[in-house]
Amino acid sequence: MSEHADVLVIGGGPAGSTAAAMLARNGFTVVLLEREVFPRYHIGESLLASCLPTLRLSGAFDKVKAAGFTVKRGAVFHWDDDEWLLDWRKLVDPDAWSWQVDRASYDDILLRNAADQGATVVEEAGVRRVVFDGDRPVSVEWTRHGTTHTTSFDFLVDASGRNGVLARKHFDMRTPHAQFQNVGVWGYWTGARLLPGSPEGAINVVSSPDGWYWHIPLSGDRWSVGLVTHKNRFAEQRSHYDSVADYYLDMVHAPEQLRNLLQGAKFEGQVRVEQEYSYVAERFCGPGYVIIGDAAAFLDPLLSTGVHLAQYSAMVGAAAVATTLRGEMPEPDALAFFDYTYRRAYSRMLVLVTRMYRDYIGTDDYFGQSQRLVHDDGDQPVQSFTKITAGLTDVREASGSTARVATAAILEAAEDVTRPNERYMGGIDMSPVWNIWRDPLGPDTAMGDIRITTEPRLGLYRHGSAS
Ligand code: FAD
Repeated sequence: MSEHADVLVIGGGPAGSTAAAMLARNGFTVVLLEREVFPRYHIGESLLASCLPTLRLSGAFDKVKAAGFTVKRGAVFHWDDDEWLLDWRKLVDPDAWSWQVDRASYDDILLRNAADQGATVVEEAGVRRVVFDGDRPVSVEWTRHGTTHTTSFDFLVDASGRNGVLARKHFDMRTPHAQFQNVGVWGYWTGARLLPGSPEGAINVVSSPDGWYWHIPLSGDRWSVGLVTHKNRFAEQRSHYDSVADYYLDMVHAPEQLRNLLQGAKFEGQVRVEQEYSYVAERFCGPGYVIIGDAAAFLDPLLSTGVHLAQYSAMVGAAAVATTLRGEMPEPDALAFFDYTYRRAYSRMLVLVTRMYRDYIGTDDYFGQSQRLVHDDGDQPVQSFTKITAGLTDVREASGSTARVATAAILEAAEDVTRPNERYMGGIDMSPVWNIWRDPLGPDTAMGDIRITTEPRLGLYRHGSAS
């Protein structure tokens, strides 16, 4: 293996594999270092419709399709006493769909695809240290089977997930969202069923006073069923049980809707628990590096946004890196576009998720706000909500002309959710998310003119100039 690469990618989850594949397809030498051996277990099974375009761009689409995952065409939320039927075919586009995936297989396909596209993929390669020259990273030290190696690069993509090589370990610049100190508790079942009227392969989400539940149909009649609850509530309730399995089984049978869906189903036996506190990094990029996926920001999984944000930030990050390395745009401009686009997508989802954790005052509250966040007058409010939560608004904004229009609405919504509300939490501190991009985003900034393009190759260009 060469000791120098154009681009070095840390981590082979959906973010890292997608970025590596896209950059290798664009002719760059790419080394991806992954500390585990794939396939490896990972939670995060419900994909948004926006994952399809990024899979097509990375060359992985046909391989994922051939794996036979459950096709997903929407979601049903049983939220307080209401039921929302979010049918992507009716509310978004007849062709909007995605999958419910087994992440061990899915991530393995994406990692192998990165290698197929020309990236050098090294497993069991844990990055220990990033070496900087001034404020620019120039090499990483990594170990494999007890031997230390050094690889230098022109550009670094940190996709190390929640481990956070740059944001957490090197810079210590992550801010947790204090209000989302949640715990996920889940297990797998066979022989369950979906809420009546669910779109094909839909995720079912059920709220309860304890938090909320996901109920996901995987292939082979296997079901992922989990609870997300505040850590204090978890600790208190868990203390009444001998084992976490006893706690889990009682909890999933508490809401009537979920009890009905699990009637006659068989529990596989193993219960998994993960703290999944939400956080955001102060910076998503800097000279010579981008931070993508969970490495930069994590959001409570209520709207199944994790893999979407991972692959979306990988696409925008790869475009910014490619454009910079080709010398087509000054690095600060390309990186500013990446930071803005990713932070904006994250912020919008954060605003919606935060809102959903608060007192429920009817669908107008969420759906009406969504309409303002999309700013598409032709849509019904429920369509706006469904488009955002299918991930398609983000994809459209990065390539289209609507990028700046809803900024005021996002900032307004962000202000609004800072106000205290006592259902599960006080007001949320949004300042780490939006203070940073508030100023540069005045309507006349150059950043608003930058767009992403995939033809003839992935990159950024200035709207109005030749691409
Ligand atoms: P990861 O998938 O975590 O990949 C990071 C990779 O980096 C790992 O393979 C790791 O081994 C590697 N790595 C770390 N450190 C190093 C190092 N030093 N050197 C080398 N390699 C390293 N998302 C959804 O889209 N849908 C869902 O339904 C969903 N449900 C969720 C439920 C729960 C309870 C939780 C906690 C999360 C859920 N998510 C969901 C979120 C989703 O799991 C993540 O957002 C997604 O996996 C992020 O992808 P990533 O590539 O950024 O990180």
